[in-house]
Amino acid sequence: MKNLIVIFLAMVAALILVRSVVSGKAEMERFQKRETLVAEATECLESGEWNCAEKAVRELLCDAPHDTNLQMHLAIILYEQERYEECRKYIASLGFKNHDLEMLDTKVASLIREMAELGIERSMHFRVEFEGDLPKRDIMEALAVLEVAYDSLCRLFDFHPENKMHLVLYESAQYQGVGPRPEWVGAVYDGKLRIPVNVMQYREIYRPMFFHELTHAFVRAMAWNKVPLWINEGIAQVIDASRTGMPRPEGGVPDLGALTEPFVNENNTSNAVRLYWYSQRMVEQILRRDANFVHFREFLQSLRHGEADESLQKFYGVTAAQLLDEVR
Ligand SMILES: [Zn+2]
Repeated sequence: MKNLIVIFLAMVAALILVRSVVSGKAEMERFQKRETLVAEATECLESGEWNCAEKAVRELLCDAPHDTNLQMHLAIILYEQERYEECRKYIASLGFKNHDLEMLDTKVASLIREMAELGIERSMHFRVEFEGDLPKRDIMEALAVLEVAYDSLCRLFDFHPENKMHLVLYESAQYQGVGPRPEWVGAVYDGKLRIPVNVMQYREIYRPMFFHELTHAFVRAMAWNKVPLWINEGIAQVIDASRTGMPRPEGGVPDLGALTEPFVNENNTSNAVRLYWYSQRMVEQILRRDANFVHFREFLQSLRHGEADESLQKFYGVTAAQLLDEVR
């Protein structure tokens, strides 16, 4: 993903360079239109909004049908949308081959095979990857529970994510994504929902866990990447309800900076517990002002385009510092 974005940013820079040597009004307009499309594509790719990315890249391709960079992006977008057969056909139709395309084609082929072997129907709202040799019963049960949780969140926020959610099911002793993670992290949302299927034996654990991680996925679909961590963790805990009403943890009040940074970097368990506790309390304070989750969703969507405090003022008449003050 990172590479994609770098390539797009490089394209933007190249366009700006070209622009400075372009003369003539019609040509200028053409370049401006292209620049706008590249900026749009970059933003959609960065946010994992594949439908809008596809639209922008296809439009760019109309203008430059043989641009291999754009073709490569379109193949990746099809893969990300789980349109595997279409993706393979598209790759086969291209007049060139390179290492990245071949890797992608191999990956897509193995995903198609894996789903067929496991006899798993494509899930309604999740695109699923497996890590390890997982029992089919656990996979099916995890998917069924996730679909139910998905529906409840759609209703709660009156919001239907445009893209499928990327789900990785793994055995908990295994690799859980990028880098080592502190032991208190069971499931993770890092753009993909990473769920250990071993938990399927423990209903009291997996229900709140799925609701929690799924809330993060919804928050991302609503606010893209623009949400402070305390809001993200706060609302996920309000919804999973597993820590509601816990007594205030020992130790001092964390500062706003620590509440805004990603918590997974926190290796000290008691610090992490404090950050989670204050996040939940601050979000509860917001919801005390207005308990409507549709209003909360509109607030989250406003974060895409502005500063958090500005949105907090507009939707709830309060700032983050005031909320922290109220719960200290
Ligand atoms: Zn979380």
